[in-house]
Amino acid sequence: MESLAVDSSGSAYNQAKMLLEKSLNTLIITGAGISAESGIPTFRGENGYWRNQSVEELASAEGFAKNPRLIWDWYLERRRLVNSCKPNLAHNILAKWIEQKLWTADVNLFTQNIDDLHQAVNTLNTISMHGSLWRNRCTKCGLERQEMALDYSKLPLSPCCQALERPGVVWFGESLDKKMLAKAFLTSVKCNAVLVIGTSGLVAPASSIISTARTVGAKIIDINMAQNAVQADIQIRKSASDALQRILF
Ligand code: NAD
Repeated sequence: MESLAVDSSGSAYNQAKMLLEKSLNTLIITGAGISAESGIPTFRGENGYWRNQSVEELASAEGFAKNPRLIWDWYLERRRLVNSCKPNLAHNILAKWIEQKLWTADVNLFTQNIDDLHQAVNTLNTISMHGSLWRNRCTKCGLERQEMALDYSKLPLSPCCQALERPGVVWFGESLDKKMLAKAFLTSVKCNAVLVIGTSGLVAPASSIISTARTVGAKIIDINMAQNAVQADIQIRKSASDALQRILF
């Protein structure tokens, strides 16, 4: 199939709809763009800096070792922001579609987001590849716990080892959980269609999961407001909620 972009005839929407209707095994990959309409900024927009530090410096083990208070302050600010936001139409449409589709097909959603907004609308078969904003991890033994605190007067110590806790997210340069990665790549080689929503396509392993699926013959549908690095058969340059209303309703 030649790459098809959305135009006034709407044929890309129809093709995407048909592909997803027929697909017996669908992989969905979401990124920061799906939460943008909830009011949560993406990394690669204008807000790529906080207190003059790049997000790459803030979301790193080196950054945390240098200044844990600064990194915690950044994550606490993000917790407060996400806490004030709600899942948007795109999260809701996806959750309903997956629930219905699972009666007749296999569907798995891997999100790069750490905001848990897919989980907030009970999206089935969802895996948060990069962890969660709402988890703390012990820096001594690695044990994680759920944590809803929005502020810390003193940095948090783990109940298990009384050691400093860090955010339970995957930082730049860190490895993802091996079992989760194996499941993601296994899904990518078995699926017929991949629906990619709101990702720059620059962050691995999501980028390589998509390209692996394409290599073994899956069709890629990419929804994004802007041009990105995802190689897709169908490109829909619209907001996540606009596009999903047209494709999944
Ligand atoms: P990214 O910031 O690199 O890219 C976001 C993409 O979304 C861009 O290509 C942009 O054009 C697109 N976009 C913006 N608004 C959109 C909309 N309304 N509809 C459709 N597309 C839209 O994000 P990424 O690709 O997810 O990867 C970067 C890293 O950012 C990940 O590790 C992720 O954990 C982290 N992150 C997460 C959140 C969150 O949890 N909500 C927010 C910011 C960054």
